[in-house]
Amino acid sequence: MDQPSIDALRAQAVAPRGHFINGAYHFGETGAQMEVLSPIDGQPLTQIADGIAADVDAAVRAARVAFEDGRWSRMSPSTRKNVLLKLADLIEGRALELAVLGVRDNGTEINMALKAEAYSAAATFRYYAEAIDKLYGQVAPTSEDVLGLIHHAPVGVVGAIVPWNFPLMIGSWKIAPALAMGNSVVLKPSETASLSLLKIAELAAEAGVPDGVFNVITGKGAMVGEALALSMDVDIMVFTGSGGTGRRLLEYSARSNLKRCYLELGGKSANIVFSDAPDLAEAAKVSAAGIFRNSGQVCVAGSRLLVQEDIYEDFVTEITRHAQAFRVGDPLDLNSQIGAVHSLPELEANLRFVTQAEAEGAERRTGGDRILTDTGGYYMAPTVMAGVKETDTLFQNEVFGPVLAVTPFKDEAEAIRLANATVYGLAGGVWTANLSRAHRMIAGIRAGVVHVNTYGGADLTVPLGGVGQSGNGHDKSLHALEKYTNLKTAWIKL
Ligand code: ADP
Repeated sequence: MDQPSIDALRAQAVAPRGHFINGAYHFGETGAQMEVLSPIDGQPLTQIADGIAADVDAAVRAARVAFEDGRWSRMSPSTRKNVLLKLADLIEGRALELAVLGVRDNGTEINMALKAEAYSAAATFRYYAEAIDKLYGQVAPTSEDVLGLIHHAPVGVVGAIVPWNFPLMIGSWKIAPALAMGNSVVLKPSETASLSLLKIAELAAEAGVPDGVFNVITGKGAMVGEALALSMDVDIMVFTGSGGTGRRLLEYSARSNLKRCYLELGGKSANIVFSDAPDLAEAAKVSAAGIFRNSGQVCVAGSRLLVQEDIYEDFVTEITRHAQAFRVGDPLDLNSQIGAVHSLPELEANLRFVTQAEAEGAERRTGGDRILTDTGGYYMAPTVMAGVKETDTLFQNEVFGPVLAVTPFKDEAEAIRLANATVYGLAGGVWTANLSRAHRMIAGIRAGVVHVNTYGGADLTVPLGGVGQSGNGHDKSLHALEKYTNLKTAWIKL
């Protein structure tokens, strides 16, 4: 299918969007709407439904009815597979449209959004669709007079809450395996990045996902998200977002039906450069991309750079040079390497972190300012803060912006100690040519993923999930399917 150009797509007005419940859009009980601002220029983009608890209840009811009558949950696996494969094709066919819509909503640079959002979503639906008719239950090794069968049963109604930084990618990591296993889904996107996910719901219906199986409710976290997580009829919650909201979800679960909560929370990931790295120039280039792309708004961003003492000064100079060379600007310009910060409050919070780091004694090597103010949009220069100490706020707290904290270390033992000196445990990186050291570091770093001689960019075949206060459970890979099924035993006397 021919796709219009980026410029044609950006010029299109975006019609106000309602919730997607039971296969159709509508604005919900109150009809209230909330304004969506574009971070590109700070101007209104469109309106979305500002949901209330009654809208969530309607979506959960639709999801429950669909689940119980088996229109999807008992559809033959090969038919379900074909529907999700068709959805993947539809997403791919509309990739540019979806990516541009998402960028107008959240500000990610288009060259990243195309790959990491639209195409990644298509690949995720395809991956889990293909798994559907290749997964088997088990026969237990029992004595001959009984038969023990282990089934993987769908859990029922899945509540999903996702953030604004990569709505399509992270949304698909949850929706695709949930649907693949036969569940119904009620999704609550971020109030500041709902548009592309609403479009996915529409495409899912076009692909043949039956009404009520996939619903989207938009609105505020403290209203719609809370109602979803408090619902007595939602069987599990899957979440990506902040630690504070993650804590609340556990409380909501305790106050309602003890639903399982899978939380993918923040990170303050250590990217560790030893002087024996195979290629220090490459290490600096990839490490810079690993913190600054998407304006640092990446949960696995390598936001703490630990550099061995003997190369510290040269490496900081090199990474500062990369930070300054990035082209920051209009996220819909293919030449921009870094787009907009997602919102004004986020930008202001980033700037406060820089001021505080300076007050605590860190040196600002570059950046730290709002730039391109005349556009009306929210842009921040990539920022390198050197000499950050273990006790500093910038070392301990996630910024979720383009701010790198650099800290020197002496040896392997100190690198591991510093890497593990925060409450987080999402990701890490190690640059070394010494294979034994690489394995010792993989074992020593407390994190869900450790990159070696690269940073970021893992594909769908491997799981992503945190330890410590970075959360629990995994997105991606076949392991993600475990969240969306219950083991069910049949014990049959023969
Ligand atoms: P971020 O800092 O990434 O925006 P949040 O945790 O605030 O992290 O937001 C992630 C998602 O959680 C969003 O969809 C948001 O609307 C939702 N959310 C925020 N507060 C709550 C809450 N109290 N209950 C449920 N969901 C919430």
